[in-house]
Amino acid sequence: MFLKRLDIIGFKSFADRVNVEFVPGVTAVVGPNGSGKSNITESIRWVLGEQSAKSLRGSKMEDVIFAGSDSRKPLNFAEVTLTLDNEDQGLPLDYNEVSITRRVFRSGESDFLINNQSCRLKDIVDLIMDSGLGREAFSIISQGKVEEILNSKPEDRRTIFEEAAGVLKYKNRKKKAENKLFETQENLNRVQDILHELEGQVEPLKIQASMAKDF
Ligand code: ATP
Repeated sequence: MFLKRLDIIGFKSFADRVNVEFVPGVTAVVGPNGSGKSNITESIRWVLGEQSAKSLRGSKMEDVIFAGSDSRKPLNFAEVTLTLDNEDQGLPLDYNEVSITRRVFRSGESDFLINNQSCRLKDIVDLIMDSGLGREAFSIISQGKVEEILNSKPEDRRTIFEEAAGVLKYKNRKKKAENKLFETQENLNRVQDILHELEGQVEPLKIQASMAKDF
């Protein structure tokens, strides 16, 4: 699975439609400060389901829409489409190419599409979560994150590596399963207590029953 193409229109500084083709050999996007490099990575995070406007350097989701410039009027919507090559079936979909689209309007309405079929945000998040492409999967490391990783405590750094290696997902599942087991054991203990109490009543009740029968 690899990133093939990114189509952006109306997202942040991209007022005109921009198509970035990630042909084999493309390893970097360079440009002067403020030319929109971070906006490209943010558009990828956004289309993959980012829900925090703050982490996209805005205060509300509407801030991702092109806000206008001296020579251009603001736009009413932002749209990003990410196209992935899926010949290796890295994504569990029966298509050799998968495109994911997210659109937001100034009115607050949103659209989400997988291969041009309308879907929910959750469908996109679920689709990519297990592919190692997720929001938190460190397939995208933004500015400042590298420093954060280097400066973090060894335990925290371990968590980051585990997340990147895809181990954390299983660790979390294990923890949940262990909690469930613990709760079930507690319930079993309670049942044992009740049984113990009831067992004590069996003998006296037997005697009472036999006396009642005799009577
Ligand atoms: P740096 O190297 O400093 O990180 P960069 O090349 O990554 O810069 P970005 O930070 O991605 O650049 O781009 C910032 C530019 O995007 C700024 O000029 C900013 O005004 C513009 N911008 C951000 N949001 C919007 C928006 N909603 N509408 C119009 N322009 C926007």
